[in-house]
Amino acid sequence: MTWFKGLQKTQCDLVRELLSPYIDDELDTAERQKVDSHLQSCQFCREEFDSIRKTIRLVQSMPVMEPRRSFAITEPKKKTRDGRLMALSAATISVAVLLLVVVIGDIGHYFDALPLPSTPWPQPSEIGKYYWPVREAEFGLLGLLIVLAIATFVYWRKKGGKLPRRK
Ligand SMILES: [Zn+2]
Repeated sequence: MTWFKGLQKTQCDLVRELLSPYIDDELDTAERQKVDSHLQSCQFCREEFDSIRKTIRLVQSMPVMEPRRSFAITEPKKKTRDGRLMALSAATISVAVLLLVVVIGDIGHYFDALPLPSTPWPQPSEIGKYYWPVREAEFGLLGLLIVLAIATFVYWRKKGGKLPRRK
């Protein structure tokens, strides 16, 4: 009979909605008795009930794999090697060292003895015959250093790098 099937379905739906609070012991006595009697008479709902209970038991029996979120935030992050960050840092340091070498060479006039490079643009007259594109190298390296340093810093911060706190 279709009307009976329809009624049965509604009854099952109602009980199934109550299964979770039933397991959590959140039902009042009347609701509880309703679920109890339905589970005794309806095999499908009993199976559903058993599977929910099994799932809950499984979840409860699982070892806690991760610390709780609030705990994880305060916990210092495990240091893992970041290839990109290391490459960025290495490039920044290399450019800084190169810039230092060029600046020292400029101050000590070490480049003056080098042969003049052939340049497509006219050489500044004030530098005279000892002109070497030191200024260009200095400004170029300085610009590159700034860009690399900012990129490294931004990447480091994005990866959770923390600045030391000022007291
Ligand atoms: Zn049922």
